[in-house]
Amino acid sequence: QAKVAGKSCYRFYSRAMDQAVERRVRMEQDLRGAWERGELSLVYQPIYRLGDGQLVGAEALLRWQHPEQGSIAPSVFIDVAEQSGLIETIGPQVLRAACDDAMRWHTQFPRGKDLFVSVNVSPRQLRSGELPEQVVATLRDTGLPPPQLHIELTETAVIGDEVHASALLARLRSNGVKVWLDDFGTGFSGLSHLRRVPVDGVKIDRSFVSDVLRDPDDLALTTAIIAMAHSLGITVIAEGVEKEGQYAILRERGCDLAQGYWLGHPVGAQEFSGLLA
Ligand code: C2E
Ligand code: MG
Ligand code: MG
Ligand code: MG
Repeated sequence: QAKVAGKSCYRFYSRAMDQAVERRVRMEQDLRGAWERGELSLVYQPIYRLGDGQLVGAEALLRWQHPEQGSIAPSVFIDVAEQSGLIETIGPQVLRAACDDAMRWHTQFPRGKDLFVSVNVSPRQLRSGELPEQVVATLRDTGLPPPQLHIELTETAVIGDEVHASALLARLRSNGVKVWLDDFGTGFSGLSHLRRVPVDGVKIDRSFVSDVLRDPDDLALTTAIIAMAHSLGITVIAEGVEKEGQYAILRERGCDLAQGYWLGHPVGAQEFSGLLA
């Protein structure tokens, strides 16, 4: 009996696995050339300074409008792009488009003069080693001043290969580009890595921010991250601010910048221009 059940169980799992693999392969095929077909686009989420409420920057976030399946979440397709290596083609296209948009804001609006654009870079893009050259070439071609480009990396991109990663980050920063550590605090080891990995800022993960009003531990951790970062001369941004109370307490604790649905949802480049006009 058990043997039979086990067997059918195995068959069930292997079918489910086959389907999952098939879906991934399909998605990978569909993702190939998606940029050229105009299915991929960027939206921008505003970033504000907590001290005076000024709009200071925008995070570029990739969107995929699949012709049959509609919009697919980046958490799904970025992973496929990363695993398949497609990210090494898509990543530079994202970088170029974000710098183009930021340069347009820079030239067209007084309020866009010093606005930074923050671009997410995946572990594989960093590991390939070509990032510093890509960044330099993109800044040269678009004319965007280097300090107005921020590169966001997750802890996982950096951890495990600190020597190589640190050298690449140092090269980026020597060109004037700012480097941020994204989703900070999710691996608590991050705190000690800050000593060895040169970054300009950390983005406190949404999971901490969402609980700062309810959970004293999350508030304590957030406050500690802010204090520690500041003592190292590192800027702090909070992501996922969904409530006024969260904004208020982060501001009171000295957090530098913030983004989140309460402040503004990600919007297309055109609509973002409206915030600057
Ligand atoms: P991330 O870099 O941590 O981006 C922040 C995510 O939080 C975004 O999700 C954003 O839409 C969402 N968000 C912003 N404010 C709030 C809020 O108040 N509440 C909640 N619940 N969520 C909020 P999104 O756009 O789905 O992106 C997910 C992840 O996909 C990003 O996380 C990033 O890791 C990755 N990603 C997005 N675009 C790119 C890209 O161009 N390149 C790479 N390599 N990764 C990207
Ligand atoms: Mg990010
Ligand atoms: Mg994040
Ligand atoms: Mg909690």
